Amino acid sequence: MPLLVMKFGGTSVADLARIENAAKKVQAEVARGYDVIVIVSAMSGETNKMVGFVEGTSKLYDAREYDAVVSSGENVTAGLMALRLQEMGIAARSWQGWQVPINTTSAHSSARFISIPREHIDAKFAEGFKVAVVAGFQGVSAEGRITTLGRGGSDTTAVAFAAAFGAERCDIYTDVDGVYTTDPRITNKARKLDKIAFEEMLELASLGAKVLQTRSVELAMRYKVRLRVLSSFEDTDENSGTLVCDEDEIMESKVVSGVAYSRDEAKVTLVRVEDRPGIAAAIFGPLAEAGVNVDMIVQNISEVEAGSSKGATTDMTFSCPVNQVARAQKAMEDAVAAGTITYDGIVVDSDVAKISVVGIGMRSHAGVAATMFKALSKENVNIKVIATSEIKISVLIDRKYMELAVQALHDAFELEKA
Ligand code: ADP
Ligand code: ASP
Ligand code: MG
Repeated sequence: MPLLVMKFGGTSVADLARIENAAKKVQAEVARGYDVIVIVSAMSGETNKMVGFVEGTSKLYDAREYDAVVSSGENVTAGLMALRLQEMGIAARSWQGWQVPINTTSAHSSARFISIPREHIDAKFAEGFKVAVVAGFQGVSAEGRITTLGRGGSDTTAVAFAAAFGAERCDIYTDVDGVYTTDPRITNKARKLDKIAFEEMLELASLGAKVLQTRSVELAMRYKVRLRVLSSFEDTDENSGTLVCDEDEIMESKVVSGVAYSRDEAKVTLVRVEDRPGIAAAIFGPLAEAGVNVDMIVQNISEVEAGSSKGATTDMTFSCPVNQVARAQKAMEDAVAAGTITYDGIVVDSDVAKISVVGIGMRSHAGVAATMFKALSKENVNIKVIATSEIKISVLIDRKYMELAVQALHDAFELEKA
């Protein structure tokens, strides 16, 4: 039997009526002759609620128990989806991660897949079952503990199942009808793309466009999964939504194809760090060990202050998610206490956002940075940090200008036009 993977995100299973709506989409594919693996998220809001419960109980919580709690929303929707399908006369069975078992690393709250054995689910299909409903976002470690894959992880569960079971396609049903040039919530000029290249989607996702979890795009690219994003609230057919595919399948080519933002960033500056070989390692080693996801890094030129006995010093600035600032500060204080670094002070700016423009066309076009900076300066937006790579340019700006900056860049690169 040909097989499809269909994933329904939180808003698509937010209540019983929406689960029924999603189940009808599954029913339609079964009627077309497919066996279906359905991956479900928790009802929208449930995972956030559970994260709140954990944080309200324990500040420096045990990551194993965090995963035990926050993974539970998916168990509810998996069972309900199976029941709804059964009510429609479709032979369906649900699976929690450990039952498959979805084997992962034991990196709690950011676990990675090790293997997805097919035998139990294959056996059920062989018995005549048409649908296997699998709880997204979760797995099980070698120690037998429940793990989770990071926020938005059900996308990655879906792609991993599509790869493991050789699915014809992996359809990600969500609350928008595809991938847009930018988040359609920020500007109504955002334009839906029919296709987007894996590389661009990967950058957009990792720079904040949460429509797909970054890891899901990585897996789809590696295992050549046909990945599609489409709406669970509209009538859809095999041409709906946005196909994420290889670059050479795309005719339309613009220099910049999308704008992404990441709202909750922080900028941390270590003032007058002594400038000597090994200082960057002495700073960023402990940050990594503390689990701080350092993103942009800027080191100022080295200066020797008049009258100082200290020798050359430099300011070191990095950005990280705002909820990791406390951990970053503690790691730096511990490093000072251990005598591995010295500095005159830490300056934290917790009100910044990162805005990025992405496009594979940037590989062969100059001037993108100039256009970007000009557009921001026209809006009087000050740029605090800049980072570039082959197909993206990112800037850190005050959070209050985030929407304005996204709109200005969307206009500057004429993304509303096909
Ligand atoms: P789900 O719960 O279905 O996983 P998410 O909330 O994780 O849905 O992702 C869908 C959301 O991603 C959309 O509602 C939209 O606001 C946001 N988004 C951000 N950037 C983009 C983009 N470039 N294209 C489409 N949606 C985007
Ligand atoms: N429920 C999880 C989250 O909200 C996983 C997901 O929806 O993809 O992050
Ligand atoms: Mg999501």
